[in-house]
Amino acid sequence: MGFRLYRRIKQLQKEKGAVILAHNYQPPEIQDIADIVGDSLELAQHATTLKQDLVIVCGVQFMAETVKILCPDKKVILPAPDAGCPLADQLTPEMILAAKAAHPGAEMVTYVNSTAACKAVSDITCTSSNAADVVRSLKGDTVLFGPDSNLGGFVQEQVPEKKIIMVPEGGNCPVHAIFTTDNVAWAKDQGLMTMCHPECPEDVRHASDVVTSTGGMIKAAKQAPGWMVLTEREMAFRLQTEYPKKNFYTRDSAVCEDMKKITLKMVGKALLDEGPEVTLPADLMENARAPIERMLAVSKPKQ
Ligand code: 13P
Ligand code: SF4
Repeated sequence: MGFRLYRRIKQLQKEKGAVILAHNYQPPEIQDIADIVGDSLELAQHATTLKQDLVIVCGVQFMAETVKILCPDKKVILPAPDAGCPLADQLTPEMILAAKAAHPGAEMVTYVNSTAACKAVSDITCTSSNAADVVRSLKGDTVLFGPDSNLGGFVQEQVPEKKIIMVPEGGNCPVHAIFTTDNVAWAKDQGLMTMCHPECPEDVRHASDVVTSTGGMIKAAKQAPGWMVLTEREMAFRLQTEYPKKNFYTRDSAVCEDMKKITLKMVGKALLDEGPEVTLPADLMENARAPIERMLAVSKPKQ
């Protein structure tokens, strides 16, 4: 059944001339069928070079919206339109405008894990792989940053010359909030190195050997034969696919439910129906595009 469905999707994809993008946290069968699997920045960078007019995004809303904003003339489809991000929900445009009013001249750096409406009132966006470079690229000494305060704290350590103000204070991802230094201690006892995502709490970041984006984890994994991976658990599948001879451990409870909403069946139906399409008002897309493009301009090229 699984193989027949896989073949049917590949055939439909060819007929329709579609491309399938997937985030590193997607279920294994979705990663396997995708043309491109990557982190948030890599997916956005690929979006700017796609030849296909039909783009299936297997991820969550903010990822599909970013692709649509960068490619407004393409048909961008999110097979599970209700796949949100509880971190993105913690920031509103009103919070950004209030912070800007309270700190005149300070620019707002908004994590891509945010709504299009938030991006539209921001100065520049960032992802977990370029956040420090983005903050360094700004002229001002004071920077507004949100919604993830752990990523903000990680950037503050790398860019001590600037003062980062969190908007809101204490915003975080519930999936990454579960990790503790006990997880790192367990890994050490097993002779494993630990890599963690910058959305992890500060003490976990400080105890880990490597702190990086999901794309950065793929590069960092070269350094050792065995790793504890402190991020969404499907990252271990992604790493195992890249490095079949290495060992990767995660916590089974580190699940982003929104990232698991898309099934192979839904990808097949999305190709057949050419929907559900991501649609955003044209003026909102235009306002949100400038801060995303400004981020891409200061990011390292995709590899
Ligand atoms: P990456 O951009 O590092 O893949 O992170 C996306 C994300 O949602 C982390 O929770
Ligand atoms: Fe959002 Fe966290 Fe899921 Fe990433 S893992 S998409 S930040 S809820």
